[in-house]
Amino acid sequence: MTVIKTLSDEVTRRIAAGEVVERPSSVVKELVENAVDAQAHCISIRTVGAGESVIEVSDDGCGMSSDDVLLAPKNFATSKIREPRDLEHISTYGFRGEALASISAVSRFEIVSSDNESGEGWRLAVDGKTMNANEPAPRERGTTISVRDLFFNTPARKRFLKSPATERKRILETILSFALILPDTEIHYVDDGRHILDLLPAPTWRDRVAAVLGADAMRHMSEVDLSAAGMRVRGFTSLPTHTRGNRNHQFFFVNRRAVREKTLVHSLQDAYRNVIPYKRFPVSVLALEVPAEDVDVNVHPAKLEVRVRNERQLFSLLRHAVKGALSAHSESSVAVYTSESRAMAATQEAQANAPEPFEGSANVISLEGRVRDTYADYLNRSPDSPLHPNPELSLQSAEPTAETRAAVESLRGGLFGDEGLFWQFDQSYIFIQVRSGLVVIDQHAAHERIIFDTTLRQLEGRTPVSQQILFRIHLELSMRELAIFRQSQELFEQLGFTLEPFGGKSILVRGYPQGLKNWEEGKLLLQIFDDILEERFPGDSLREQLVASFACRSAIKAGKKLSLEEMRLLADQLFAVDNPYSCPHGRPTIKRLTVEEIGRWFDRR
Ligand code: ADP
Ligand code: MG
Repeated sequence: MTVIKTLSDEVTRRIAAGEVVERPSSVVKELVENAVDAQAHCISIRTVGAGESVIEVSDDGCGMSSDDVLLAPKNFATSKIREPRDLEHISTYGFRGEALASISAVSRFEIVSSDNESGEGWRLAVDGKTMNANEPAPRERGTTISVRDLFFNTPARKRFLKSPATERKRILETILSFALILPDTEIHYVDDGRHILDLLPAPTWRDRVAAVLGADAMRHMSEVDLSAAGMRVRGFTSLPTHTRGNRNHQFFFVNRRAVREKTLVHSLQDAYRNVIPYKRFPVSVLALEVPAEDVDVNVHPAKLEVRVRNERQLFSLLRHAVKGALSAHSESSVAVYTSESRAMAATQEAQANAPEPFEGSANVISLEGRVRDTYADYLNRSPDSPLHPNPELSLQSAEPTAETRAAVESLRGGLFGDEGLFWQFDQSYIFIQVRSGLVVIDQHAAHERIIFDTTLRQLEGRTPVSQQILFRIHLELSMRELAIFRQSQELFEQLGFTLEPFGGKSILVRGYPQGLKNWEEGKLLLQIFDDILEERFPGDSLREQLVASFACRSAIKAGKKLSLEEMRLLADQLFAVDNPYSCPHGRPTIKRLTVEEIGRWFDRR
């Protein structure tokens, strides 16, 4: 006797429906996605009884022909993919062709659609299992799908629904999430006859986000935008001072698809580590863009999760993007950055894709141009005045190159002027009064950037200046450190170190780069070995990692008192590098406060 039977179409559809259609908000999601896939400019949603009585979605999209109207509610009927390879790069929300089949299996379902301008369309009704013949019906181009009495034939599912208030909230959240990611689409939502949402196409994404989250929330958000390795993270995220008590205000999108991935949530939380209190959560709208072929959206029946090929890189890009956005915006930025290795790893990707430092030539004219551009775009000024090189601060005590000096010399006075005031705050920040306001430099981050850039240049050819030390130093290394030393001995030589193997696991240090800070009897070298071992610094070659570590370890630290000359020199040198605004791990080096901003504090304008 056979026990196994193939299930009837009706049963399979209801089973499938259980996966796709969990609750009214899932219906809203599927119907709005179809409208977007049909290139609608305007989408109207109407619900009655928290979606249990009626869910109706109308659009002005491409519509369906009479044949398509008949096919649409059939299982695996889709116009969006044809061949297996289409699954590799899905650009529409739908592709499985099961949403309408599933919804129509558990509701009283109706489609009215037209794909032309004649004013005539087609109506098709499906009652749980019986599909009626389609009949002509008046309709402008576009589609209206209405879903009544959801789960009327699956009472078990109906019992699982939460209170109308909760279901209503989920519907609203679903619609808001579309509204956030589709700024060009007009969206209306009417619930039990009340207009809940009337959104016109927004001029910019920011306007739409402000319309959805509120202009006030928007004022306390920082803009996020970072790309690396063909991926991009864009969006808005709240300042550490404006968090919420739950995660309801976090929206993540991968290629415009709203996703709820724990890992994304964690990456976001990570970016705020040490800047927001325990159990507080940022408000964030983050749109991640990855090449379509790198995403598998076919892993979750309701497509609430996706799989991304370079997942870890994406998460680290997100963390890095958010951190960057926060520090670019907030005075408390310093706290955002701890030198934890995860943060470093986060920058790895971004760094790998950053333009090569010092691309182009370094002749007098181009360097001068570069310095001027930097100054100008930062402060809108054109400057000139002498430079006082100070060996204390430079990596090699050898003066800056003639061209650097010439360029900086011709620029400085106008910026800082003779009246330019420099002072050090908290032994960590340099405040500089400039004509247009106030500039604050993080002394460590700035010096790190300077050393990083000069060192890379140095490795590209100039002879390092080494300083022989009087008493040579023995350093006893671990096996792993020794391995690093062996791999990198030549690089260290290029930096200006003189190192020799000295039997067993020891090395002998005969010299180190002239003007080096923080040598501390060789501790610096051990720190660099350790950084490389722990991969604390970004860079996909040993060389880059070494330079980054060297820059960080040898840069003047926060907490060190600087003389006026040192402060001036640091500022000058900083503006002479290619990327003065951030240190090698993406932390900002400079912040600026304009006179206007200060005026606004006191309601002067
Ligand atoms: P999928 O979206 O995965 O293709 P659905 O079951 O959601 O599957 O829809 C089936 C098909 O019905 C779609 O591929 C599309 O051709 C058509 N369709 C559904 N909704 C609309 C709409 N609002 N406008 C135009 N065509 C639609
Ligand atoms: Mg669909």
